[in-house]
Amino acid sequence: MSPRKNRRTKSHPPKFIFVVGGVMSGVGKGITTSSIGLILQSRGYNVTAVKIDPYVNVDAGTMNPVEHGETFVMDDGLECDQDMGNYERFLNLDLTGTNYMTTGAVYQSVINQERNLEFGGKCVSVVPDIPNEVIRRIRKAQKINGADITVIEIGGTAGEYENLLFLEAVRMMKLETPEDIMTVLVSFLPIPSKIGEMKTKPTQHSARLLNSAGIQPDFIVGRSSRPLDDIRKQKLSVMCSVPRDHIISAPDVDSIYHIPINFEEDLFSTKILKKLDLRPRKKDLSDWESLVQKINASSKEVRIGVIGKYFNTGDFVLGDAYVSVLEAIKHAAYFYKTNPIIDWINSEELEDDETKLRELKQYDGIIIPGGFGSRGIEGKIQAIQFARENKIPYLGLCYGMQMAVVEFARNVVGLPKAHTTEIDAKTPDPVIDILADQKEKLAKKELGGTMRLGGYYCDISNKTLARKLYSKATVRERHRHRYEFNNEYRDMLVEHGLVISGMNTEQDLVEIIELSDHPFFIGTQFHPELISRPLDPHPLFKGFIRAATKK
Ligand code: GLN
Repeated sequence: MSPRKNRRTKSHPPKFIFVVGGVMSGVGKGITTSSIGLILQSRGYNVTAVKIDPYVNVDAGTMNPVEHGETFVMDDGLECDQDMGNYERFLNLDLTGTNYMTTGAVYQSVINQERNLEFGGKCVSVVPDIPNEVIRRIRKAQKINGADITVIEIGGTAGEYENLLFLEAVRMMKLETPEDIMTVLVSFLPIPSKIGEMKTKPTQHSARLLNSAGIQPDFIVGRSSRPLDDIRKQKLSVMCSVPRDHIISAPDVDSIYHIPINFEEDLFSTKILKKLDLRPRKKDLSDWESLVQKINASSKEVRIGVIGKYFNTGDFVLGDAYVSVLEAIKHAAYFYKTNPIIDWINSEELEDDETKLRELKQYDGIIIPGGFGSRGIEGKIQAIQFARENKIPYLGLCYGMQMAVVEFARNVVGLPKAHTTEIDAKTPDPVIDILADQKEKLAKKELGGTMRLGGYYCDISNKTLARKLYSKATVRERHRHRYEFNNEYRDMLVEHGLVISGMNTEQDLVEIIELSDHPFFIGTQFHPELISRPLDPHPLFKGFIRAATKK
């Protein structure tokens, strides 16, 4: 299924729903935003979603994935927050870079306008000029996407210094067109183990903090480990001045894909449409309902090992650094009514450890996702050799493809010192080398937003596994890299059995490699995980999971 195309209904002005967090981060604002978008889409409205990140970073490309989670890449090449991936997955839309902004990007454009004398000699002030730029960007995203309803997630939590100017934008927009603006507070209700009772006070405080920014929430989504009971709903209603039936209970669930269905049990879309004075069109959530049925019916198991380095954050393991990979595995597994069991394997621990490497045999499939730098690199190369020699299905994504080429050059072609120049600038056999136009950028230290980014076309060769899986001669996939397969080694590697199954013909760049004497061995220079959708799993992930279930 191809992504939906938005076309706006002109019978009403565009509507804007702001989603703001309370109490603490990590309670699922992104998924709430995506789910609100989805349930409104299911009522026949064209929806788009915008994320506002309070960071001063101009985009998410310069943020460490361990701290911030995965860097998601849009088709137009903008590097942004992982929530953009959630929006695209839930709404089945290809969004644009216009749908994302940071404090840094907003200030940068205001300062550029000032330098160009666009303020006509006036003093440029934090308020209203910064919120005005935020509003301009939100309205532009609405227009470009042709949206009836734009759902905007404001990063951070109410009461933080960092997102105050964004709340100012909400307040100012509400002043302009009060009937078209709505705010949802997504808040957390703790159940302290020694007390054993759900507490509403932190959420009451969050609502007051929003009030002090001039905003009255219209709905409260109460996140907790258990559903909110009537007593809690009543209390929140009175203390936060929100109608009782506008308090939506959002307990923890096994799969994020259940959340829109739970919202609809509370008639959330009907209540929102009423609040925004929009017609309650007939609902069609059937695709989503069958997805959830498939998830519930998944009984078989498939064991996938994901080998990387971005896992340790103190005592916690952060799957967030690879969230799109994780979701793409799930989409393909659910398609085959299979439950994926995913283990995170730290590549550093595999290095020169025969016993640890042999443990990889327990996996039905191995994935090495994108990465940068030298830490754990030899562990990755050894794991690829193990997967190749032991016929374990292997999918290499970007760095995982580059390392598969290095492994092949070293152990099959017989070039023991082969490497990527990212790690060994002086290697005698640079099978992976920097892209010509990237050399200059590195030398000038122009590092932010300068990789090969976003969607490019790739031609798929006949009679290859990639062609069989895509069943298409040309595909478009998203990229984020500076290094590339070195064409000077192409003939040599091909003579030894490496199959080049995907090429970008415009730039003469190798995009997909595979092995034919293996149940499944594919490496992609691009990131297929970024365009996998729950209702439309990615063909390469489908092929990988299918091979894994057969192992
Ligand atoms: N570090 C590699 C490069 O820059 C791979 C990047 C990635 O895996 N996203 O080309």
